[in-house]
Amino acid sequence: MSIFPIIFIVNIIMFDEKRRVYSSERIHFRIRVDCDSPFSYFFDDFLRFIKYMITSRSMTDKEQSCFLSYLALNTSQVNNIIVFYYAFCRLFSLFLDNIYMASSTRKKCGTGSDCKQAGVANCEGCSKVFCTKHFNDHRRSLDEEMNVILSKYNDFKNTTIQEPTIVNIQPIIEEVNKWEQESVKKIQQNAAELRNELLQLRTAHIESLSTKFQSLAEQMKKGQEQQDFLEADLLRWEKRLDDLKSNLISPSAINIKQDDNIPLVHLIAVSYLSTEKNELFDRIFNDKVRIEEGGEVVVALKAFMSYTEVRGKNSYEFGPHKIRLLLENPSDQWTFLGINSKSTPLQQSSFSSKSAYGWCSSNYIYSNGSYQFNKTNPPIQMKQNDIINLIFDCDNCKISMVNERTKIKHELIVDVNNCPFPWQLHVNLRQPESRIRILSA
Ligand SMILES: [Zn+2]
Ligand SMILES: [Zn+2]
Repeated sequence: MSIFPIIFIVNIIMFDEKRRVYSSERIHFRIRVDCDSPFSYFFDDFLRFIKYMITSRSMTDKEQSCFLSYLALNTSQVNNIIVFYYAFCRLFSLFLDNIYMASSTRKKCGTGSDCKQAGVANCEGCSKVFCTKHFNDHRRSLDEEMNVILSKYNDFKNTTIQEPTIVNIQPIIEEVNKWEQESVKKIQQNAAELRNELLQLRTAHIESLSTKFQSLAEQMKKGQEQQDFLEADLLRWEKRLDDLKSNLISPSAINIKQDDNIPLVHLIAVSYLSTEKNELFDRIFNDKVRIEEGGEVVVALKAFMSYTEVRGKNSYEFGPHKIRLLLENPSDQWTFLGINSKSTPLQQSSFSSKSAYGWCSSNYIYSNGSYQFNKTNPPIQMKQNDIINLIFDCDNCKISMVNERTKIKHELIVDVNNCPFPWQLHVNLRQPESRIRILSA
């Protein structure tokens, strides 16, 4: 008795993880047929038939006529083939039963409708499992949503680029114009006053000089008339005359001096204030700390000697953001400042969680769930009454800390696999009466 292997070739739908598409793949599996049985005579036909039946789930009219003409050419074998067909059907239904039994342990399609198909593909975005058809439907609906967002983006882009007037800066420009006119008016007025003052000074100066000339002339006249003068008098009168003459040409008493303390015109500058709401403290891990002044201040209780986490209200996902913190601590308290992922639950030693990134006052850097001593010089400083600027650069996955007193900047690259967006302001306090205030940016 010899045994021939029969190779079944079946089309199955495979999910290509890399390209995220479905593709049709052929798999081979084998059964064994006893060659001494009558079935083996029709081995080739049987094989072709089975191949055909399995690879084409439903035959088109053309395929059917081809198939029938194939059978007509082999009339002597038709009956046997028909017998085989039933045998095959039995075999195939067993095969399907196996598939069904295997699939019954799998998840059902999670499309939400009455689909009874097994879920064969996971969507990583929503963690649902779908059958082939509904997975494709799901992707199509996501494509449609994507197109809606893209068209909104294009509309927005076109309006802002083609109609820059949509951003109304006219009132600000008018304010600048007003400042210009008022400043020019002030300067002109001041200059006019100065000119007037100079004219008055000149008149007074000339009057004073002519009085002096007159007095000198009288002295000389008197001396001449009475012949009452010596060499010394001549010398003195000549010197006095030179003196008066030089005073007339360049009045040394008049000059312009600048007063830096009282600016005539105050400089103005344009500054852009983001319309985003200011940050506030919002969540606390336990009641060992208290949020005060509507969220602007967080303060640790008097009898407190452990760690606790405090979070900000805002979520940061795009663009740069700056938060200014004033350390109103009674002394140089232990403080951790940085970010945490919004999805990470609040905890006591929050700085050691994988999603925590930041710095602490004892000169340690925290990232990826571990910490290290800051070897760079100068060290991280968070002293009493220091103002710390925290900058969250979401677009570049980077955070930085600048102490306004020391002007020293520390930077940290954030691995968003560990600290997924959105980020939140993350503070951890340890000592009694620690107190931090959020200043307006
Ligand atoms: Zn999904
Ligand atoms: Zn389905």
